[in-house]
Amino acid sequence: MLINLLSDTVTKPTLGMLQAMFQAEVGDDVFGEDPTVNALEAKAAALFGKEAALFCPSGTMTNQIALKVHTQPLDEVICDEYSHIYQYEVGGYAFHSGIGINLIKGTNGKITAEQVAAAIKLDYDWLPKSSLVVLENTANKGGGSYYTLDEIRPIHDLCKERDLKLHLDGARIFNALVETGEATQAVGTLFDSISICLSKGLGTPVGSVLIGNQVFIKKSRRVRKVMGGGMRQAGYLAAAGIYALDNHVQRLKEDNNRAKQIAQVLQTLHYVSNVRPVQTNILIFDVNSPYTAATYLEKLLQHDIKATAFGPQTIRFVTHLDFTEEMLEKVLKVIGDW
Ligand SMILES: *Cc1c(COP(=O)(O)O)cnc(C)c1O
Repeated sequence: MLINLLSDTVTKPTLGMLQAMFQAEVGDDVFGEDPTVNALEAKAAALFGKEAALFCPSGTMTNQIALKVHTQPLDEVICDEYSHIYQYEVGGYAFHSGIGINLIKGTNGKITAEQVAAAIKLDYDWLPKSSLVVLENTANKGGGSYYTLDEIRPIHDLCKERDLKLHLDGARIFNALVETGEATQAVGTLFDSISICLSKGLGTPVGSVLIGNQVFIKKSRRVRKVMGGGMRQAGYLAAAGIYALDNHVQRLKEDNNRAKQIAQVLQTLHYVSNVRPVQTNILIFDVNSPYTAATYLEKLLQHDIKATAFGPQTIRFVTHLDFTEEMLEKVLKVIGDW
């Protein structure tokens, strides 16, 4: 039994999801004629109280499209230094959009309105124009921490006042919402655009959805096309997304709880320190001598447990749909024995 804690992207479709995919009605989505893609887009838009949505192959693409549509070359985007758009999207903000990036040193991947206010540049010919703020919820490299609506609202108000757009990288937004109990519609009112990933905790094989108003999504469709993301009978994939939104949202609470259970045990172990606060399904901790991250991962692998290093002494575990109660028990037993 291989236990894969590398990422919540490692899940495989369930039987129910596969059946939904098999039964999908499809058409050519470049012509807007795939009914299942259209249904997924309408569902995602309505879920967040927005006008429209766009199904894309990846969360990198949905984020990159948002950066492109919200900015002009020589603008800059303001975000936390740990942001996915900065760390893990190949520097695409510069490549696709010709913009700069203004990084804020936040707390666990989260930034405040005060920090954003201080980062917004004045309107001078020789400065980049601050035109967009991106928040990540939950914050991936920030250890799965989440924003509450009360924390986001002042940033939203500031962006309105200073005429900046606000984008949500919500790859794991549902992992946050099952904790806070807050409504998707309320999230929708605070952002100009939202990216959600279907292929993370929601467990689909492929896909992300970009959500916004009609004008934004119309422009986004063109950018998706030029990036090579116009797909044809994509309804087979969209069907998995619809199934996931219907069946896999509430259960994310289980993933969050399992991560917290592992964290509790880690805290008691002599070779572990600095277990970061676990708010959702991501768990980051340091291992001490005699271990390095590399030797610890090797030892885990001898017990068929896969995870990833997040630094020379730092390990990340991510729980997900395919990480069962039985696997949790084995992990707790294995790590507790050393
Ligand atoms: C995974 C992820 C993305 C998108 O990643 P893809 O692998 O391109 O789908 C975007 N933002 C965050 C925070 C992520 O964790």
